[in-house]
Amino acid sequence: AEVVGGGDKEVVREYFNGTGFQRWKKIYGETDDVNKVQMDIRIGHAKTVENVMKMLKEDGPLAGVTVCDAGCGTGSLSIPLAKEGALVSASDISAAMVSEAQGKAKQELRIDTTDASSNIVMPKFEVSDLESLGGKYDTVVCLDVLIHYPQNKADAMIGHLASLAENRLILSFAPNTWYYSLLKRIGELFPGPSKATRAYLHAEADVERALQKAGWKIKKRGLITTQFYFANLIEAVPV
Ligand code: SAM
Repeated sequence: AEVVGGGDKEVVREYFNGTGFQRWKKIYGETDDVNKVQMDIRIGHAKTVENVMKMLKEDGPLAGVTVCDAGCGTGSLSIPLAKEGALVSASDISAAMVSEAQGKAKQELRIDTTDASSNIVMPKFEVSDLESLGGKYDTVVCLDVLIHYPQNKADAMIGHLASLAENRLILSFAPNTWYYSLLKRIGELFPGPSKATRAYLHAEADVERALQKAGWKIKKRGLITTQFYFANLIEAVPV
């Protein structure tokens, strides 16, 4: 039976502190001990991050702009954002992910406190589910998180994220298309050992409806696909 209600979140938290952490740290990392599927997902995800950076920079420079990276994982987006001078608040439901992201940021950002010309600020890291986040940010980003929740949960998550954002909300999710549904079905028929969580697909129309309910509209849309990675990327703005 499908787990709905409070169950999903506990399962997701446990997964991303355990086997899921090990799996995704590898996929999002640089080492070559990944299989073909994992490498394909790594490439797809990197394209998503690249596209988000492009979307954001199209609207103007990021220096001094407050960005909330909800469900930051290992910091794949938070770190490049900080490199552009953005003031990043990075959070994740998984403590393991947050500490990995923090370690990576320290290594990759190497903030030189004696260099007055540098505008790089270390992101603020926090262990928190996105539902508990408060405050206001110019921009809120939430990448590849909705896949872990059914649409009825995703609606509330989107509404909450929109309430934290002043100007922009960027979301990515696995689109509910026939091809991807099929891939997912096949995945369920032949479950691999590392497939430990359910994956939920979302129709763009459902996401759009949730945004409309919150008083937001879609401004930009993109689709990122490789063989095994699919993401709809949307930028929404207040109506
Ligand atoms: N956004 C990151 C990226 O694109 O590199 C990570 C994506 S990873 C597939 C999904 C992340 O969402 C995991 O790090 C997981 O711990 C986090 N997550 C899942 N449910 C969450 C929730 N309710 N609140 C905050 N983070 C959550």
